[in-house]
Amino acid sequence: MSILPASERPNPYSAYGAHGSVLVLNSGSSSLKYQLVNPVGGEAIAAGTVERIGEPSGIVTHTYGGNRTRRELEVADHGDALKLALGMFDEAGPALSEAGIHAVGHRVVHGGAEFSGPAVVDDGVIERIEALVPLAPLHNPANLQGIRVARDLLGDVPHVAVFDTAFFQALPAEAYTYAIDREVAREHAVRRYGFHGTSHQYVAGKVARVLGRRVEDLNTIVLHLGNGASASAVRGGVPIDTSMGLTPLEGLVMGTRSGDIDPAVVFHLARNAGMDIDELDTLLNKRSGVLGLSGVNDFRELHRLVDEGDEDAALAFDVYIHRLRKYVGAYTALLGRVDVIAFTAGVGENDAAVRAAVCADLEALGIAVDDDRNAARGGERIISPDWARTLVMVVPTMEELAIARQSVEAVDGLDPSSAVTAG
Ligand code: ADP
Repeated sequence: MSILPASERPNPYSAYGAHGSVLVLNSGSSSLKYQLVNPVGGEAIAAGTVERIGEPSGIVTHTYGGNRTRRELEVADHGDALKLALGMFDEAGPALSEAGIHAVGHRVVHGGAEFSGPAVVDDGVIERIEALVPLAPLHNPANLQGIRVARDLLGDVPHVAVFDTAFFQALPAEAYTYAIDREVAREHAVRRYGFHGTSHQYVAGKVARVLGRRVEDLNTIVLHLGNGASASAVRGGVPIDTSMGLTPLEGLVMGTRSGDIDPAVVFHLARNAGMDIDELDTLLNKRSGVLGLSGVNDFRELHRLVDEGDEDAALAFDVYIHRLRKYVGAYTALLGRVDVIAFTAGVGENDAAVRAAVCADLEALGIAVDDDRNAARGGERIISPDWARTLVMVVPTMEELAIARQSVEAVDGLDPSSAVTAG
């Protein structure tokens, strides 16, 4: 499959605009998510997923122009997955040869202390991402596999790595330093890195654009509540703290992860329950959080159980909210003045009960939620009452768009978002 680079296309100012389109790839260990994005207008032109890579019963879904195409077939590996995805564009549209692909943007989970912004991929960048595998043994290898197969199949366009950790490279040392033996920490790169950075950065910037304010003038707490969940305190566009740490395990209670826990729980279980490191890793990452407490990790299910009187589900909800409120309090103290609390991602955007519970009884801090505004649905919106000093907002995150824009920026040093107010 070959795609002409933008400079060689007959009409670089295609229907997709001067920046063409960006193919955004998010490669997990067993899935590949892709989206063809217009980096200026902000819309997803087409999107899809290839699931169950490596299994005989893979599933490919592709959506374009309101039509959803689904195929079930064997997907041997990531190369196969990308070929299938590209085949979907041929079969169901739009034709990639006419999409003016300007760059392929890759989501990479861990950029360590190496990457504080997007990087145009070359062999050196691949080596540096590879060197970070010990910090993200599950994620970076899958991300790298995606980059490798995409460079093979789409060799004519630049590839850009956009790191989940990059935004948080600006954290101050007191926020990213763990209070452990400094030699051990230095030797093994043990510090806080933070994750979901693309989303936190996008949402903090979007808040400013929606309000018609300069990001430099706003103090914002961003609550990214998806399956994974993280909080950040952003002062004037620069993060001063975030809840995730060396890995995405620290911080908030999540769908399947414990978040903050006394590290001695690990020693205790190793000594007394005979659990080895891998079992403990699985326990805290996959069998904990809302799932571990209630048996379900989807908040729609959780509410259903609570409504049925399930006490474990009720406790799970309370533990989840308690942790969130602690972080809101902590970040309020760090910021001194909170202009905006922005809820985003699957739970943050859709779950009015979570938003209401997080902000309940905080009138003394100038924080409140208006019931009617909170219940209304839609895009970016303010849900606090007019009198509240802090604006509480819902701001849908658009990680793929943010990756697309950062990719364009990295490739030609332009910021396409500066050309529009809509994005
Ligand atoms: P991730 O990208 O981390 O996989 P998302 O941001 O897509 O996660 O969030 C997924 C989660 O959002 C689901 O597990 C579910 O708990 C929650 N969610 C999605 N839709 C709703 C809804 N309508 N009401 C409450 N929670 C929802």
